[in-house]
Amino acid sequence: MDKDTIYAPATPGGGAIAVIRISGSRAHRVLEAVFKSAKKTAHSVLTHGFIVNGSKQIDEVMAVKFDAPRSYTGEDMAEIYCHGGRVGISRIMAALSGQGARLATPGEFTKRAFEAGKMDLSAAGAVMELIGANSAAAADAAMRQLSGALFDKITQMQKLLTDALTVIEAGIEYPEEDIEADVQKDAAPLIEKAHNGCFALAQTFESGRLLKTGVSAAIVGRPNVGKSSLFNMLLGYDRAIVTALPGTTRDSVDDETIYLGIPLKLIDTAGQREARDEVERIGVERAKNAAKGADTKLLVIDRSAGVTERDKHIFKSLDGDVVIALNKCDLPPAITAKQCGEIFNRDVIEVCAIDGQGRDELLARIRPVTGGDENDVTVTSERHRDCLCAAAASLKAARYAFDTADLDCVTIDIKEAWDKLGEITGQTAAEEIINSIFDTFCLGK
Ligand code: GDP
Repeated sequence: MDKDTIYAPATPGGGAIAVIRISGSRAHRVLEAVFKSAKKTAHSVLTHGFIVNGSKQIDEVMAVKFDAPRSYTGEDMAEIYCHGGRVGISRIMAALSGQGARLATPGEFTKRAFEAGKMDLSAAGAVMELIGANSAAAADAAMRQLSGALFDKITQMQKLLTDALTVIEAGIEYPEEDIEADVQKDAAPLIEKAHNGCFALAQTFESGRLLKTGVSAAIVGRPNVGKSSLFNMLLGYDRAIVTALPGTTRDSVDDETIYLGIPLKLIDTAGQREARDEVERIGVERAKNAAKGADTKLLVIDRSAGVTERDKHIFKSLDGDVVIALNKCDLPPAITAKQCGEIFNRDVIEVCAIDGQGRDELLARIRPVTGGDENDVTVTSERHRDCLCAAAASLKAARYAFDTADLDCVTIDIKEAWDKLGEITGQTAAEEIINSIFDTFCLGK
């Protein structure tokens, strides 16, 4: 069935220039009806002209057309580069609507690109990840996925499974020859390899999640050990109030910086001591909660004061990843880093919040190693991770079925794994999965 011809603004209004896209079998006719130019439009050539609605000139624009299938959606397309005012954009859209085109739904252009086989579902999902990336590392990961790196990995694993199925199906066809042992010998390594591939790829999700959402670190400790100073030092500017009075930070304050391409959320918490009043009590409570939710806890110890019972008490209340920042190392020490490390039995980094000593070491410790080569594929979507885990589980079942069941059962498990992988690329994804992905897109994409 011929699809509607659709249009949508591809840029948020208000800028100097806006882009309006048109796609569908009537896209060129719609453009010609509203775009008047001294020159004839040609594929992929930007042409100057005016948008008209009837006899009225609405805007002076540049326009381009793309001939199917050499376009983003694979259909005939056009783009109008008009002035960015909201009134102008809506007048152009009214002119397009007057030619029988309709406003696209969010993600409809990319959905059409997917349906036309211009990109697989993993690349389509990467489009929004690229747009939404809040760090260079996340954008790089999205770009690799958009270029088909995840698709290639998935296809390689599916190929292993198809090969295994071919071997097994030959075995099923000639059961009388008792070649089950041979079948297992040939097929099992293929299944094993695909299983390991699924598992390894699923494992990259943790670093993929960090690329996307960044890491958080809560700065905790007694009052006056230098938490706010350290918070400012790590951020690189004076965000929190620093005073010599204990108990100044009464609520948690947070801010974000980008370190080596990854968003780093730092949380300065209230100093933990016996609260002197209700506000401080609430502050201490919030400090504890902020610490619980953070990926890393930076316990600040004042080196010039040594380790106190309160420090040890706070340390005991922390779980997960705890790093000790031994602060004020410009002052005469009451304890060495080695002694401090022995007390807490973990990494101690000597820092000076005043002159910035130890900053890089501390930041490097907070920002986890995201693993592998930067050209490696990283899974950033929970859906992809779940599909990979399900595929790995089916392949484990397939290996087990060789010993406990017949070859038909092995086949079923392998096919299940193949289908789960296909959900990532879209080959076997149900309509509602596909729709739920495009529903998250922005208008015009
Ligand atoms: P917080 O209560 O733990 O947040 O501590 P603040 O950051 O407010 O600092 C308390 C006091 O310690 C202030 O007077 C800071 O100037 C001082 N201070 C913090 N870090 C250092 C440091 O590395 N060296 C020295 N000499 N003083 C520091």
